[in-house]
Amino acid sequence: MDRRKFCRTAVAASVAAAIPILPGCGKKAPVATQADTSIRGISLDGAEIELEKAAIRELGESMTGPVLLSGHPDYDGARTIWNGMHDKRPALIARCLNAEDVSEAVTFARERELLVAVRGGGHSWPGKSICDDGLMVDLSQMNTVTADAETQRASAQGGALLSALDAAALNKGMVTTAGVVSHTGVGGYTLGGGFGRLNRKYGLTVDNVTGAQIVTADGTVRRISAEEEPDLFWAIRGGGGNFGVATEFEYQLHPFDRNVLSGSIVWPVEQLRDVLEFYAEWSAGLSDEMYVGPTIATTPDGVRVVMMDVVYNGDPAAGEKELAPLRAIGSPIMDGVTVQDYTVLQTINDVAFGHGVRSYAKNGMVKEWTQGLVNAIVESDDPRIFVANHVAGGAVKRVGELDTAFPHRNAEIMLVIVSGWMDPAQDDEFIAATRANFKAIEPHTGGYYTNIDFDGAEAAGNYGPAYERLRKIKGQYDPGNLFRLNSNIEPA
Ligand SMILES: Cc1cc2nc3c(=O)[nH]c(=O)nc-3n(C[C@H](O)[C@H](O)[C@H](O)COP(=O)(O)OP(=O)(O)OC[C@H]3O[C@@H](n4cnc5c(N)ncnc54)[C@H](O)[C@@H]3O)c2cc1C
Repeated sequence: MDRRKFCRTAVAASVAAAIPILPGCGKKAPVATQADTSIRGISLDGAEIELEKAAIRELGESMTGPVLLSGHPDYDGARTIWNGMHDKRPALIARCLNAEDVSEAVTFARERELLVAVRGGGHSWPGKSICDDGLMVDLSQMNTVTADAETQRASAQGGALLSALDAAALNKGMVTTAGVVSHTGVGGYTLGGGFGRLNRKYGLTVDNVTGAQIVTADGTVRRISAEEEPDLFWAIRGGGGNFGVATEFEYQLHPFDRNVLSGSIVWPVEQLRDVLEFYAEWSAGLSDEMYVGPTIATTPDGVRVVMMDVVYNGDPAAGEKELAPLRAIGSPIMDGVTVQDYTVLQTINDVAFGHGVRSYAKNGMVKEWTQGLVNAIVESDDPRIFVANHVAGGAVKRVGELDTAFPHRNAEIMLVIVSGWMDPAQDDEFIAATRANFKAIEPHTGGYYTNIDFDGAEAAGNYGPAYERLRKIKGQYDPGNLFRLNSNIEPA
């Protein structure tokens, strides 16, 4: 690029402003010392490396978006992710505005074997979208979603949030499966599988991905689908961020009446056993239209409750009829299930799961509700723990085990054991309580959802028969394991 020409552009001005400790274009550089000419970075294998400021400046010049270093007014905001436990400081943050920016950033990192974190919506529970001293590829500004009623497709940039996906689709009278907290990012969420309240009818989010744009470790921007690079397309539907940076997803949409029978039924915790024992039997025969699953939580005023979240994706009268037996169990203290806008339930957890909370989670896939599982949940109940669920079955189960890279097609439900607190002094207490609670239910689970995997258990066993194919594809597209801050698959 003609450097003088570049310096005349507005983009150049913004780049210079975004790198506060580097001289701007055309300005006289300060006298260079060793400390002035490079900053500390960390390599893929953890060794300390030096990053030349001149090279960082070149990266900034090659990108449309800014490169942020410590000290820039946007640096701290950009490195802040959802879980308050992860306070890390990347050496540089490439705030990408398009796929070409991502390609420049990925190439910069690969050439230096620099550790890379990719930030979509920033909701990684274990904090895999941030790192100390590496390069953070920040997709937060790539957040546009469009929907087309004619083609029944939505297109979402890799840093968009689920709220934008729901909104764009619903505005066109359509929907696709999206998760239960609307400020979660489409990026990590989709790549790992994507559980939402319409699973049973439309499948997981990965089952609705019809194509994607992805920047692989060699810096190439690729369009992928069932026809173009089908192996890579298969791998990103469940294999997480292992294969590159997804800059765009295309989703199948479904015609949808947003006024749905939905809401929560709430019982005091004293009725937990009755409610779960009933649910364990009753839920086995539910229609694909009915999504209903248990949550055990402590309300802000300290009342421990068991709740059922309900969405009936069909004629409300039929939904009322199917739901009636559940409503007749025990004595609910609240029944909020009514015909209402779909987004009421889709945003109901947004505040409870607000940004900045310190949080720890474990999860397990449940193939069958048994008396043993009910006993374990009831007997291990702890007011510090939020037991959440993601109901599967239905359309999720009808997809072949190896049709996508998502491995748990047999699960009826995914149970998530979560705790949240604000005071760092309580970290050990809450983490230990969450682990103990999960230990009680773990014998009734088989495998886990990589998107909520805190302790990085062995990927091979969890991916089962898909693992070898995933390793081969990883070896083909990312032989150096540049994209390793995820539920990592070793390149073959
Ligand atoms: C409050 C909360 C609610 C949740 N609710 C649900 C739910 O209802 N259903 C469900 O299935 N899951 C849910 N999850 C789990 C969620 O799917 C994962 O946390 C997911 O990784 C979040 O994606 P993100 O883009 O926001 O995360 P990030 O922290 O940005 O990234 C997570 C991982 O994905 C990678 N990544 C992100 N974007 C890209 C991209 N565009 N290209 C390549 N790699 C990328 C990152 O490098 C990292 O490894 C929830 C999580 C939280 C914290």
